[in-house]
This record gives sequence, C-alpha cells and structure tokens, in this order.
Amino acid sequence: MATSTALQTMVQPQHAKPKQPSNNIIKRPPPPPPITPPQSQSHSLTTSGTITNNNNKRQKKLNNNNKVFSLPEPLRDVRVFEKRGQVGQGTYGSVFMGADLKTGNVVALKRINTEQEENGFPITAIREVKILKALNHKNVVSLKEIVTSKDSGEIPKNVFMVFEYLEYDLTGILETPEIKLTQHHIKSWSYQLLSGVHYMHTNKIIHRDLKASNLLVNRKGELKIADWGLARSWNTDMKKLTKKVITLWYRPPELLLGCDKYTDKIDMWSVGCIIAEMFRRSGFLRGRDETAQLDMIFKVCGHPPPEDLDYVHQKWPNWKNIVPENKQKFFPRIIQQELKMHLPISQASWMTPKAIDLIDKLMILNPDKRLDAYHALEADYFFENPFVKTDPSELNMNFAVTSVHEWEARKKHERIMAMRAQAAKQQQQQNNNTAGRRPP
Ligand code: ADP
Repeated sequence: MATSTALQTMVQPQHAKPKQPSNNIIKRPPPPPPITPPQSQSHSLTTSGTITNNNNKRQKKLNNNNKVFSLPEPLRDVRVFEKRGQVGQGTYGSVFMGADLKTGNVVALKRINTEQEENGFPITAIREVKILKALNHKNVVSLKEIVTSKDSGEIPKNVFMVFEYLEYDLTGILETPEIKLTQHHIKSWSYQLLSGVHYMHTNKIIHRDLKASNLLVNRKGELKIADWGLARSWNTDMKKLTKKVITLWYRPPELLLGCDKYTDKIDMWSVGCIIAEMFRRSGFLRGRDETAQLDMIFKVCGHPPPEDLDYVHQKWPNWKNIVPENKQKFFPRIIQQELKMHLPISQASWMTPKAIDLIDKLMILNPDKRLDAYHALEADYFFENPFVKTDPSELNMNFAVTSVHEWEARKKHERIMAMRAQAAKQQQQQNNNTAGRRPP
C-alpha cells in the first residue's frame, strides 16, 4: 500500500533551531509533537475492495509451513450502536451520533451510501479508510472500526465508518454567536491544526480539503482533522494530480490556475484561510465561483511580483489567459491591511503584527515560498504574549452551547430565517387588512 510505504520512510522532524528571543517573546514550547508509528491495523481493505475487521486478530497456523495467517473477522452490524441525531451531511452520506449499546461509548457514524455509486464502493471512502488506518496522531480524528447494515438478505446495504465523537466542528463554533472565544482558543487551535498538518506532511500525505467544517473540536479543547476522502499519499516525483480538490474558499491560486503538479503547500494556503477565519468568525476570501475567487485572491494578495513571473508562466497553465495587460494593472499586495478589517470589535486587538505575519506567509502566492507546517509552528505569533497553550486542557471549554456542527448551525439558521419570513408575511397581511378597512 502506497501509504504504508510512505510511512515506512517517515522523516523525523529536525530539531527546532533556537531563535534569538525578541522582547515580548516569553519562551518556546518543545518542538512539534514527534511522529508516532501508524496504529496497529484494525481493518484491512482487500484487493477486491472489501473491508474486513482484524481487531483481536485470530492468528492461526493454517498450514504446515509454520506461516501465520490472520483470519478476517466479520464486520459488526450497525445495530450494536443506538443511532442518535444527525450531526453532519457529507458528500457520500450522513454523519450521526451513536452510542455503543454495551459500553455506552459515544461515536460518530459516517454512512457511506453504496447505493448511489455506479461502481460499487466509493473510491473516496476507500482512500479515507486506507489513510486513516495508517495515521495515528492526537490532531487526526481516529477511525475505530467499520460496521455494516444489511438488507433483508445478508447483502450489505450501507457501510458505516465509526469515529471517535467530537462535540463541535470549527464552522459550528464560529457561526454560533453564543460561543464566546478567547485568543487562547484561536492560538491553540491554530497550533494544533499545524501540528496535525506537520504530521501528515512529514508522512508524505496531503489532505486536499482542509476547511473549518472538517476540523473537529471536543470538550477537552482538542482539535482534530477530519474528512480524509480527498487525501492521498504524495511525493515530489508525481507527474499529474487532479485539480478538482479543495473547497473553493480555501483553494490556492496554483489550483485555480490549472497547475496539476502541485505540492503539500496547497494545504498550507487552506491553513492560512482557516486561521484568518477564526479571527473574523467568518470566511476570509469568499468567491462565488472560480473566477471571482481568483479575482479576490489577486485583489488581496496582489498579482505575482516581478521575480515570480517566470515561475508563474511555467507552472500555472491558465495564467496566460488572465495576466494583466501592463504593469500598471498589477494589483499590489494588501493582505496585511485586509486582515485587520472586518474583525469583530472585541477581537480586533488579537490580530497582532505577528499573527498577521503568520497568515501573510501562509498565503504567499508562490507555493515554493509559502511557509511549511514545520516553520509555521515556529512562528513568533505562538510565543508572544499570551503564549500558546499547547496543552488544550488549559483552554476554557465551558461554552454556552455544549455541542454544534456546521449542519446543525445551518439548520438552526434556516429555521430562524423561515420563522422570520413567516412573521414578516403575517405582519404584511395584518397591515393589508388594516389598510383595507374603511375608517369609521
Ligand atoms: P464528507 O466526507 O462526506 O464530506 P465529513 O467527514 O466531512 O463528511 O463529515 C461531515 C460533517 O459531519 C463534518 O463537517 C462534521 O460536522 C460532522 N462529523 C464528521 N465526523 C465527525 C466526528 N467524528 N464527530 C462529530 N462530528 C463529525
């Protein structure tokens, strides 16, 4: 399996080079969390694409050659869980909260709808299982097992991925005004996100759909990266990769301009967008389509500077179609000013020059010059006052809302809008009735 090959060639992070502390820098935390070896394999995907559960491996000697084989165990039925409310709507099915009927453990059940797929089991789900099996990090959501539900016959109808359950996703948090954040939350979640990204990039895996709703947070303040359906193993020799990845608002310029030989830096752009979003409590660059998105990027991040023009001509096939006619029409880079605008008043002072500097460097147009996760973890922003809380248990997670995900937040918003529309309609009707009445 490509993933395990990548993991075998794990690169240990170099030790952080000590920097000269500046006046307001307190002290640096230990270097990024060490890369841990992959989890013991609890599921296997056979070459035919079937998923088997190898937990408690029944190792049996099956022949006289003294070779040890593991017999696959049948997958458990989803009815071992009590299904509770829906918490998410994914591309390939819905996500529910569930509780193990025996242990009471709460889980998230992601249903992979195999019926709508022409070719059987969706490839994204196979990829997600393969990659999650190989990853083991405190900032990566953990896949516990796979279960199935059967039709009246014994044919599996649906397959469910069973995950540890996290009470929030970042979009849910940011879109819920009752949840009051502090700068400790933003700093710690930025650091945790970068730690997870550093781990996957060191293991030569790219996520390709980092966005606020794919970042889960639990009541202990831990942030975990979810939705690995578009992730893949990656190396610098790869010739051609699909460009149809990353949700529009988080998509870097190289993808929008048709580059199919991209690097792990595509994820770093998304990280920059997400950190900016935490400060603003809403999306940073929100184009309605690809053209508008690109326009917005250039208006804020400027057009590529003269020293990068050769690079851009070479690497971004669609640049030639949009290159401004003359130097005067090139936009300047104003991201530093933009980042200070549209901030909630109570949070404006949190966007310090060092926070701006970090986001600025994550959103450099030229991916070769964009900050990588390792160096981003060393950014001064984390070590100025207030110092980053690398231990999430130090965060105050006593939020007014005990659980919320994007799907629930949107549903609530839709309900409120529908109620408001209904009330406005009734008011209009009342006004019409009053106007129609003759004065006595
Ligand atoms: P898809 O890959 O189909 O887009 P996701 O994995 O992104 O599905 O899940 C959709 C939503 O479900 C997420 O945005 C999140 O709100 C919720 N969700 C996913 N996994 C979990 C989990 N482990 N715990 C709690 N909620 C989750």
